Amino acid sequence: MKILNVAIVGGTHGNELTGAYLVRRWSAYPDSISRPSFKTKLFLANPKAVEQNRRFIDEDLNRCFRMNSLASTDRGTYEALRAFYLNQMIGPKGESKHNVIFDMHTSTSNCGVMLILKDNNLINRQLAAYIQCQIPDTKILYIPPIQDDQPYLTSICPYGLTVEIGPIPQGLLRSDLIALTDEVVKHGLDYLHSLNEGRQKAVPDSIEVFEFKEEVVFPQVDDAIVGTIHHWLQDRDYEALNHGDPIFECLDGSVLAYEKQETVYPVFINEAAYYYKNVAMSLCLKKTLLTATGLELV
Ligand SMILES: [Zn+2]
Repeated sequence: MKILNVAIVGGTHGNELTGAYLVRRWSAYPDSISRPSFKTKLFLANPKAVEQNRRFIDEDLNRCFRMNSLASTDRGTYEALRAFYLNQMIGPKGESKHNVIFDMHTSTSNCGVMLILKDNNLINRQLAAYIQCQIPDTKILYIPPIQDDQPYLTSICPYGLTVEIGPIPQGLLRSDLIALTDEVVKHGLDYLHSLNEGRQKAVPDSIEVFEFKEEVVFPQVDDAIVGTIHHWLQDRDYEALNHGDPIFECLDGSVLAYEKQETVYPVFINEAAYYYKNVAMSLCLKKTLLTATGLELV
């Protein structure tokens, strides 16, 4: 298999400025993202939301890529139109012009460099493993598909990663995190080029991933949040959460603890972008995925 076309996307969420900035930079200096063995194209996914410095105009663009959503623009939202357009340009989903997609995001949580796999096929695992080798603090989040047809932008292409970097507030730029995102994508491109050349760069035999299990919502009364992330838990993304550990400190001074016996690993702790859904964090299990032996290319 040869990688022929790679899509790099920024501004899927309009108030996550790093990706949109890098799309501008690489448009001006395309040499830095070009590799001899494939074509690389840049996309600004949600220009109106970027212009208004908002996550979205009508709905979350990164949930608009299910087949039935893409079949028509009848919903009439700005994001439905953008999803339709992006699917034409990058996809179409199922028979995509682009083999690989990188979608660049930021987070207000203490996520560091996080690569999100929404499909754990072999190329994705190896790509993540290679980037993790180059940037050792990189963490890998795996979101197992609930159903075959996923709503995410990356699902247009057979291979690809969501790059999530933080912590950074919404709506601002930080040169250090721009540099990190730049580095992640370029390592990814280098790896793909090495595959095409038949000189595949070495990766470890396995990767540790945080596998998404469930979301935890804030305590609420009459639709109002009545508890904050407990100060002990704040910023402890990827660290073990055990039975009895504090999660929330409430309005009345009480503390809510994690009640299950199973050890979990919270991510996206106190993510600002999820407040409108009342989501306080996601809980994960730690798993190991093989990156080499005996696995078929999907
Ligand atoms: Zn985002």
